[in-house]
Amino acid sequence: MTDLAETVLTTIRNVLSSHRALIGLHEPLFKGKEGEYVKECLDTGWVSSVGKFVDRFEKKLAEYTGVKRAIAVVNGTCALHLALKLAGVEPGNEVIVPTLTFVATANAVAYTGATPHFVDSEEGTLGLDPDKLETYLNDISEIRKGTCYNKLTGKRITAVVPMHVFGHPVDLDPLFEVCKNFKLILIEDAAESLGSFYKGKHTGNWGKLSVLSFNGNKIITTGGGGAILTNDSTLADRAKHLSTTAKLPHKWEYNHDEIGYNYRLPNINAALGCAQIENLPYFIKEKRNLAKRYQSAFESIKEISFFSEPDNAKSNYWLNTILLEQGFEHERDTVLQILNDNGIQARPVWTLLHKLPMYKDCPKMDLTTAKSLEARLINIPSSVGL
Ligand SMILES: *Cc1c(COP(=O)(O)O)cnc(C)c1O
Repeated sequence: MTDLAETVLTTIRNVLSSHRALIGLHEPLFKGKEGEYVKECLDTGWVSSVGKFVDRFEKKLAEYTGVKRAIAVVNGTCALHLALKLAGVEPGNEVIVPTLTFVATANAVAYTGATPHFVDSEEGTLGLDPDKLETYLNDISEIRKGTCYNKLTGKRITAVVPMHVFGHPVDLDPLFEVCKNFKLILIEDAAESLGSFYKGKHTGNWGKLSVLSFNGNKIITTGGGGAILTNDSTLADRAKHLSTTAKLPHKWEYNHDEIGYNYRLPNINAALGCAQIENLPYFIKEKRNLAKRYQSAFESIKEISFFSEPDNAKSNYWLNTILLEQGFEHERDTVLQILNDNGIQARPVWTLLHKLPMYKDCPKMDLTTAKSLEARLINIPSSVGL
Protein backbone atom coordinates (compact mmCIF):
# COMPACT_ATOMS: atom_id res chain seq x y z
CA MET A 1 0.00 0.00 0.00
CA THR A 2 1.45 3.36 -0.99
CA ASP A 3 1.15 6.31 1.36
CA LEU A 4 -1.01 8.15 -1.12
CA ALA A 5 -3.49 5.28 -1.55
CA GLU A 6 -3.73 4.95 2.22
CA THR A 7 -4.36 8.69 2.58
CA VAL A 8 -7.15 8.50 -0.01
CA LEU A 9 -8.78 5.59 1.83
CA THR A 10 -8.66 7.40 5.17
CA THR A 11 -9.91 10.64 3.64
CA ILE A 12 -12.95 8.99 2.06
CA ARG A 13 -13.71 7.01 5.22
CA ASN A 14 -13.69 10.21 7.26
CA VAL A 15 -16.15 11.86 4.88
CA LEU A 16 -18.64 8.99 4.76
CA SER A 17 -21.06 8.64 7.61
CA SER A 18 -21.97 5.12 6.48
CA HIS A 19 -19.95 2.25 7.90
CA ARG A 20 -21.45 -0.57 5.89
CA ALA A 21 -19.05 -3.30 4.77
CA LEU A 22 -19.58 -2.42 1.12
CA ILE A 23 -20.27 1.08 -0.09
CA GLY A 24 -21.39 1.19 -3.71
CA LEU A 25 -20.62 3.87 -6.24
CA HIS A 26 -24.21 4.87 -6.81
CA GLU A 27 -27.23 3.14 -5.32
CA PRO A 28 -30.86 4.05 -5.91
CA LEU A 29 -33.05 5.28 -3.04
CA PHE A 30 -36.80 4.63 -2.84
CA LYS A 31 -38.07 6.74 0.02
CA GLY A 32 -41.21 8.23 -1.53
CA LYS A 33 -44.37 7.01 -3.19
CA GLU A 34 -42.70 4.38 -5.41
CA GLY A 35 -44.61 1.49 -3.81
CA GLU A 36 -47.93 3.29 -3.85
CA TYR A 37 -47.69 4.24 -7.54
CA VAL A 38 -46.44 0.81 -8.68
CA LYS A 39 -49.23 -0.86 -6.70
CA GLU A 40 -51.72 1.36 -8.44
CA CYS A 41 -50.46 0.02 -11.80
CA LEU A 42 -50.84 -3.56 -10.57
CA ASP A 43 -54.29 -2.94 -9.08
CA THR A 44 -55.63 -1.27 -12.23
CA GLY A 45 -53.85 -3.55 -14.72
CA TRP A 46 -52.23 -0.56 -16.47
CA VAL A 47 -48.66 -1.81 -16.46
CA SER A 48 -47.66 -1.56 -20.09
CA SER A 49 -47.15 1.01 -22.81
CA VAL A 50 -50.10 3.28 -22.08
CA GLY A 51 -51.32 4.73 -18.82
CA LYS A 52 -51.53 7.91 -16.82
CA PHE A 53 -48.07 7.63 -15.27
CA VAL A 54 -46.35 7.88 -18.66
CA ASP A 55 -48.17 11.13 -19.40
CA ARG A 56 -47.58 12.45 -15.89
CA PHE A 57 -43.87 11.56 -15.95
CA GLU A 58 -43.40 13.27 -19.32
CA LYS A 59 -45.15 16.39 -18.04
CA LYS A 60 -43.01 16.48 -14.88
CA LEU A 61 -39.80 16.08 -16.89
CA ALA A 62 -40.76 18.94 -19.19
CA GLU A 63 -41.71 21.12 -16.21
CA TYR A 64 -38.53 20.40 -14.30
CA THR A 65 -36.12 20.87 -17.20
CA GLY A 66 -37.97 23.78 -18.79
CA VAL A 67 -37.93 22.03 -22.15
CA LYS A 68 -41.30 22.11 -23.90
CA ARG A 69 -41.76 18.40 -24.51
CA ALA A 70 -40.45 15.14 -23.04
CA ILE A 71 -41.03 11.70 -24.59
CA ALA A 72 -40.37 8.76 -22.27
CA VAL A 73 -38.68 5.70 -23.79
CA VAL A 74 -37.28 2.37 -22.56
CA ASN A 75 -33.69 3.51 -22.03
CA GLY A 76 -31.24 6.32 -22.68
CA THR A 77 -29.48 4.49 -25.48
CA CYS A 78 -32.61 4.18 -27.61
CA ALA A 79 -33.46 7.79 -26.74
CA LEU A 80 -30.13 8.74 -28.32
CA HIS A 81 -30.81 6.50 -31.32
CA LEU A 82 -34.21 8.11 -31.93
CA ALA A 83 -32.87 11.63 -31.37
CA LEU A 84 -30.14 11.08 -33.98
CA LYS A 85 -32.66 9.69 -36.45
CA LEU A 86 -35.04 12.59 -35.86
CA ALA A 87 -32.16 15.02 -36.38
CA GLY A 88 -31.73 13.53 -39.84
CA VAL A 89 -28.53 11.56 -39.31
CA GLU A 90 -28.21 9.08 -42.19
CA PRO A 91 -26.06 6.09 -43.08
CA GLY A 92 -22.64 7.24 -44.26
CA ASN A 93 -22.70 10.49 -42.23
CA GLU A 94 -20.25 11.37 -39.47
CA VAL A 95 -21.33 12.52 -36.00
CA ILE A 96 -18.97 14.32 -33.63
CA VAL A 97 -18.78 12.70 -30.16
CA PRO A 98 -16.27 13.00 -27.33
CA THR A 99 -14.00 9.99 -26.92
CA LEU A 100 -14.48 10.40 -23.18
CA THR A 101 -18.08 9.24 -22.73
CA PHE A 102 -20.07 6.10 -22.01
CA VAL A 103 -20.14 3.73 -24.99
CA ALA A 104 -23.88 4.34 -25.61
CA THR A 105 -23.16 7.76 -27.14
CA ALA A 106 -21.14 6.20 -29.96
CA ASN A 107 -23.26 3.04 -30.24
CA ALA A 108 -26.36 5.11 -30.94
CA VAL A 109 -24.50 6.84 -33.78
CA ALA A 110 -23.50 3.43 -35.17
CA TYR A 111 -27.13 2.20 -35.01
CA THR A 112 -28.09 4.92 -37.54
CA GLY A 113 -25.41 3.71 -39.95
CA ALA A 114 -23.29 6.80 -39.33
CA THR A 115 -19.71 6.88 -38.02
CA PRO A 116 -18.67 8.47 -34.73
CA HIS A 117 -15.93 11.07 -35.16
CA PHE A 118 -14.05 11.41 -31.88
CA VAL A 119 -13.01 14.73 -30.36
CA ASP A 120 -11.15 15.91 -27.28
CA SER A 121 -12.41 17.12 -23.90
CA GLU A 122 -11.41 20.00 -21.68
CA GLU A 123 -10.04 19.79 -18.18
CA GLY A 124 -12.40 22.41 -16.71
CA THR A 125 -15.64 20.58 -17.57
CA LEU A 126 -14.48 17.02 -18.44
CA GLY A 127 -16.68 17.48 -21.53
CA LEU A 128 -16.23 18.33 -25.20
CA ASP A 129 -13.84 21.25 -25.80
CA PRO A 130 -15.64 23.82 -28.04
CA ASP A 131 -12.52 25.91 -28.87
CA LYS A 132 -10.50 22.90 -29.89
CA LEU A 133 -13.45 21.63 -31.95
CA GLU A 134 -13.70 24.97 -33.77
CA THR A 135 -10.00 25.02 -34.65
CA TYR A 136 -10.23 21.42 -35.82
CA LEU A 137 -13.32 21.97 -37.97
CA ASN A 138 -11.69 25.03 -39.57
CA ASP A 139 -8.88 22.70 -40.53
CA ILE A 140 -10.65 19.54 -41.72
CA SER A 141 -14.14 20.59 -42.82
CA GLU A 142 -15.76 22.72 -45.51
CA ILE A 143 -19.29 24.01 -45.96
CA ARG A 144 -20.86 23.24 -49.32
CA LYS A 145 -24.42 24.48 -49.99
CA GLY A 146 -25.12 24.88 -46.29
CA THR A 147 -23.84 21.40 -45.37
CA CYS A 148 -20.65 20.52 -43.50
CA TYR A 149 -18.30 17.95 -45.06
CA ASN A 150 -15.17 16.29 -43.79
CA LYS A 151 -12.54 17.15 -46.43
CA LEU A 152 -10.47 14.08 -45.52
CA THR A 153 -13.23 11.44 -45.80
CA GLY A 154 -15.65 13.26 -48.09
CA LYS A 155 -18.49 12.43 -45.70
CA ARG A 156 -21.16 14.75 -44.40
CA ILE A 157 -20.76 15.76 -40.75
CA THR A 158 -24.33 16.07 -39.51
CA ALA A 159 -24.42 16.50 -35.76
CA VAL A 160 -22.46 17.03 -32.54
CA VAL A 161 -23.32 15.07 -29.38
CA PRO A 162 -21.67 16.56 -26.29
CA MET A 163 -22.08 14.69 -23.00
CA HIS A 164 -22.33 16.30 -19.56
CA VAL A 165 -19.82 14.09 -17.79
CA PHE A 166 -20.86 12.95 -14.29
CA GLY A 167 -23.43 15.76 -14.35
CA HIS A 168 -21.03 18.64 -15.04
CA PRO A 169 -22.33 20.76 -17.93
CA VAL A 170 -20.10 21.27 -20.97
CA ASP A 171 -19.52 24.88 -22.01
CA LEU A 172 -22.75 25.08 -23.99
CA ASP A 173 -22.80 28.68 -25.27
CA PRO A 174 -19.56 28.52 -27.28
CA LEU A 175 -20.42 25.00 -28.44
CA PHE A 176 -23.82 26.25 -29.65
CA GLU A 177 -21.99 28.95 -31.68
CA VAL A 178 -19.60 26.42 -33.24
CA CYS A 179 -22.56 24.24 -34.25
CA LYS A 180 -24.33 27.23 -35.78
CA ASN A 181 -21.27 28.35 -37.74
CA PHE A 182 -20.57 24.86 -39.09
CA LYS A 183 -24.22 23.95 -39.79
CA LEU A 184 -24.17 21.09 -37.31
CA ILE A 185 -27.15 19.88 -35.29
CA LEU A 186 -26.58 19.92 -31.54
CA ILE A 187 -27.88 16.92 -29.58
CA GLU A 188 -27.12 16.89 -25.85
CA ASP A 189 -26.42 13.55 -24.20
CA ALA A 190 -27.79 14.70 -20.84
CA ALA A 191 -28.11 11.11 -19.56
CA GLU A 192 -26.08 12.03 -16.46
CA SER A 193 -27.19 15.62 -15.95
CA LEU A 194 -30.81 15.66 -14.81
CA GLY A 195 -30.70 18.39 -12.16
CA SER A 196 -27.67 20.17 -13.63
CA PHE A 197 -27.88 23.77 -14.77
CA TYR A 198 -25.70 25.86 -17.09
CA LYS A 199 -25.91 29.62 -16.55
CA GLY A 200 -29.14 29.13 -14.63
CA LYS A 201 -30.88 27.05 -17.28
CA HIS A 202 -31.29 23.27 -17.18
CA THR A 203 -29.03 21.19 -19.44
CA GLY A 204 -30.95 19.83 -22.40
CA ASN A 205 -32.17 23.29 -23.45
CA TRP A 206 -29.39 23.92 -26.01
CA GLY A 207 -29.79 20.85 -28.18
CA LYS A 208 -32.35 20.57 -30.97
CA LEU A 209 -32.99 17.31 -29.14
CA SER A 210 -31.57 16.09 -25.83
CA VAL A 211 -31.54 12.79 -24.03
CA LEU A 212 -31.95 11.61 -20.42
CA SER A 213 -31.41 8.17 -18.83
CA PHE A 214 -33.16 6.62 -15.83
CA ASN A 215 -31.00 3.52 -15.56
CA GLY A 216 -30.59 2.04 -12.08
CA ASN A 217 -27.40 3.97 -11.35
CA LYS A 218 -28.58 7.39 -12.55
CA ILE A 219 -29.76 10.25 -10.31
CA ILE A 220 -33.36 9.04 -10.58
CA THR A 221 -34.34 5.61 -11.87
CA THR A 222 -37.30 3.90 -13.47
CA GLY A 223 -35.53 0.54 -13.36
CA GLY A 224 -34.60 1.17 -16.96
CA GLY A 225 -35.75 4.16 -18.92
CA GLY A 226 -34.90 7.29 -20.82
CA ALA A 227 -36.41 10.35 -22.41
CA ILE A 228 -36.05 12.63 -25.39
CA LEU A 229 -36.38 16.36 -24.71
CA THR A 230 -37.16 18.93 -27.38
CA ASN A 231 -38.66 22.39 -27.77
CA ASP A 232 -39.80 21.48 -31.29
CA SER A 233 -43.34 20.10 -31.08
CA THR A 234 -43.19 18.59 -34.58
CA LEU A 235 -40.10 16.61 -33.58
CA ALA A 236 -41.75 15.66 -30.28
CA ASP A 237 -44.79 14.28 -32.10
CA ARG A 238 -42.48 12.38 -34.47
CA ALA A 239 -40.56 10.98 -31.50
CA LYS A 240 -43.74 9.68 -29.92
CA HIS A 241 -44.93 8.23 -33.23
CA LEU A 242 -41.63 6.49 -34.04
CA SER A 243 -41.28 5.15 -30.50
CA THR A 244 -44.74 3.53 -30.68
CA THR A 245 -44.15 1.44 -33.84
CA ALA A 246 -45.32 4.34 -36.03
CA LYS A 247 -48.89 3.16 -35.47
CA LEU A 248 -51.65 5.39 -36.80
CA PRO A 249 -54.25 6.09 -34.13
CA HIS A 250 -57.39 3.98 -34.61
CA LYS A 251 -59.67 2.14 -32.20
CA TRP A 252 -59.12 -1.30 -33.70
CA GLU A 253 -57.10 -1.14 -36.92
CA TYR A 254 -53.36 -1.74 -37.03
CA ASN A 255 -51.77 0.56 -39.58
CA HIS A 256 -48.21 1.83 -39.57
CA ASP A 257 -46.87 4.46 -41.96
CA GLU A 258 -43.10 3.83 -41.59
CA ILE A 259 -40.63 1.54 -39.85
CA GLY A 260 -41.10 2.43 -36.22
CA TYR A 261 -39.65 1.16 -32.96
CA ASN A 262 -41.06 -0.36 -29.81
CA TYR A 263 -39.31 2.15 -27.56
CA ARG A 264 -42.12 3.48 -25.35
CA LEU A 265 -41.61 3.41 -21.58
CA PRO A 266 -44.06 1.04 -19.82
CA ASN A 267 -46.49 2.64 -17.37
CA ILE A 268 -45.10 0.64 -14.44
CA ASN A 269 -41.63 2.12 -15.01
CA ALA A 270 -43.12 5.59 -15.40
CA ALA A 271 -44.86 5.08 -12.03
CA LEU A 272 -41.43 4.65 -10.44
CA GLY A 273 -40.24 7.75 -12.29
CA CYS A 274 -43.13 9.86 -11.00
CA ALA A 275 -42.24 8.96 -7.43
CA GLN A 276 -38.51 9.43 -7.98
CA ILE A 277 -38.79 12.87 -9.56
CA GLU A 278 -40.77 14.07 -6.52
CA ASN A 279 -37.58 13.48 -4.53
CA LEU A 280 -35.14 14.90 -7.09
CA PRO A 281 -34.65 18.23 -5.27
CA TYR A 282 -33.80 16.30 -2.09
CA PHE A 283 -31.41 13.99 -3.97
CA ILE A 284 -29.59 16.97 -5.45
CA LYS A 285 -29.33 18.76 -2.13
CA GLU A 286 -27.82 15.63 -0.55
CA LYS A 287 -25.43 15.02 -3.42
CA ARG A 288 -24.18 18.60 -3.49
CA ASN A 289 -23.68 18.41 0.23
CA LEU A 290 -21.61 15.20 -0.06
CA ALA A 291 -19.54 16.81 -2.83
CA LYS A 292 -18.82 19.77 -0.56
CA ARG A 293 -17.61 17.45 2.20
CA TYR A 294 -15.35 15.57 -0.22
CA GLN A 295 -14.03 18.83 -1.57
CA SER A 296 -12.89 20.17 1.75
CA ALA A 297 -11.49 16.78 2.80
CA PHE A 298 -9.33 16.54 -0.33
CA GLU A 299 -8.13 20.14 -0.15
CA SER A 300 -5.11 19.22 1.95
CA ILE A 301 -3.87 16.45 -0.37
CA LYS A 302 -1.58 18.02 -2.90
CA GLU A 303 -1.34 15.00 -5.25
CA ILE A 304 -5.11 14.89 -5.75
CA SER A 305 -7.86 17.35 -6.56
CA PHE A 306 -11.59 16.87 -6.13
CA PHE A 307 -13.38 17.83 -9.34
CA SER A 308 -15.74 20.77 -8.71
CA GLU A 309 -18.49 22.14 -10.93
CA PRO A 310 -17.48 24.69 -13.59
CA ASP A 311 -17.97 28.38 -12.53
CA ASN A 312 -20.92 28.87 -14.89
CA ALA A 313 -22.73 25.75 -13.74
CA LYS A 314 -24.67 24.16 -10.92
CA SER A 315 -24.08 20.40 -11.13
CA ASN A 316 -26.04 17.47 -9.76
CA TYR A 317 -22.70 15.81 -8.81
CA TRP A 318 -24.06 12.52 -10.11
CA LEU A 319 -20.71 10.77 -9.69
CA ASN A 320 -18.04 12.33 -7.52
CA THR A 321 -14.64 12.49 -9.12
CA ILE A 322 -11.08 12.86 -7.94
CA LEU A 323 -8.16 13.58 -10.25
CA LEU A 324 -4.55 12.65 -9.64
CA GLU A 325 -2.25 15.56 -10.44
CA GLN A 326 -0.04 15.17 -13.48
CA GLY A 327 2.96 13.03 -12.61
CA PHE A 328 0.95 10.79 -10.26
CA GLU A 329 -0.82 8.69 -12.93
CA HIS A 330 1.07 5.61 -11.76
CA GLU A 331 -0.84 5.75 -8.45
CA ARG A 332 -4.25 5.31 -10.07
CA ASP A 333 -4.46 1.52 -10.04
CA THR A 334 -3.08 1.27 -6.51
CA VAL A 335 -5.71 3.71 -5.26
CA LEU A 336 -8.45 1.76 -7.08
CA GLN A 337 -7.17 -1.52 -5.62
CA ILE A 338 -7.00 -0.27 -2.03
CA LEU A 339 -10.43 1.35 -2.11
CA ASN A 340 -12.14 -1.68 -3.64
CA ASP A 341 -10.27 -4.06 -1.30
CA ASN A 342 -11.66 -2.09 1.61
CA GLY A 343 -15.29 -2.12 0.53
CA ILE A 344 -15.32 1.33 -1.03
CA GLN A 345 -16.37 0.97 -4.61
CA ALA A 346 -14.30 3.13 -6.94
CA ARG A 347 -13.60 2.94 -10.64
CA PRO A 348 -11.68 4.65 -13.43
CA VAL A 349 -13.43 6.51 -16.21
CA TRP A 350 -14.68 4.51 -19.23
CA THR A 351 -11.98 3.32 -21.60
CA LEU A 352 -11.73 6.02 -24.26
CA LEU A 353 -14.03 5.01 -27.11
CA HIS A 354 -11.52 5.45 -29.94
CA LYS A 355 -9.53 2.55 -28.42
CA LEU A 356 -12.40 0.03 -28.50
CA PRO A 357 -12.11 -2.58 -31.28
CA MET A 358 -15.26 -1.51 -33.12
CA TYR A 359 -14.31 2.17 -33.11
CA LYS A 360 -10.52 2.07 -33.49
CA ASP A 361 -10.59 3.04 -37.19
CA CYS A 362 -13.02 5.95 -36.80
CA PRO A 363 -11.89 9.50 -37.59
CA LYS A 364 -10.51 11.44 -34.62
CA MET A 365 -8.63 14.58 -33.66
CA ASP A 366 -5.73 14.93 -31.26
CA LEU A 367 -7.05 13.56 -27.95
CA THR A 368 -4.37 14.71 -25.51
CA THR A 369 -6.64 16.01 -22.75
CA ALA A 370 -9.00 13.01 -22.81
CA LYS A 371 -6.02 10.66 -22.56
CA SER A 372 -4.65 12.59 -19.62
CA LEU A 373 -8.03 12.56 -17.86
CA GLU A 374 -8.40 8.82 -18.47
CA ALA A 375 -5.06 8.21 -16.77
CA ARG A 376 -5.85 10.34 -13.70
CA LEU A 377 -9.58 10.08 -13.01
CA ILE A 378 -11.28 8.05 -10.26
CA ASN A 379 -14.98 7.97 -9.35
CA ILE A 380 -15.83 7.56 -5.66
CA PRO A 381 -19.06 6.70 -3.79
CA SER A 382 -21.83 9.15 -4.56
CA SER A 383 -25.14 7.72 -3.35
CA VAL A 384 -27.70 9.81 -1.52
CA GLY A 385 -27.49 9.10 2.20
CA LEU A 386 -23.75 8.68 2.53
C1 LIG B 1 -26.40 6.06 -18.83
C2 LIG B 1 -25.95 6.71 -20.08
C3 LIG B 1 -26.61 6.56 -21.31
C4 LIG B 1 -27.82 5.73 -21.54
O1 LIG B 1 -27.88 4.63 -20.82
P1 LIG B 1 -29.10 3.60 -20.69
O2 LIG B 1 -28.51 2.61 -19.76
O3 LIG B 1 -29.35 3.07 -22.06
O4 LIG B 1 -30.29 4.29 -20.13
C5 LIG B 1 -26.14 7.26 -22.41
N1 LIG B 1 -25.08 8.07 -22.31
C6 LIG B 1 -24.44 8.25 -21.15
C7 LIG B 1 -23.31 9.19 -21.11
C8 LIG B 1 -24.83 7.57 -20.00
O5 LIG B 1 -24.16 7.75 -18.86
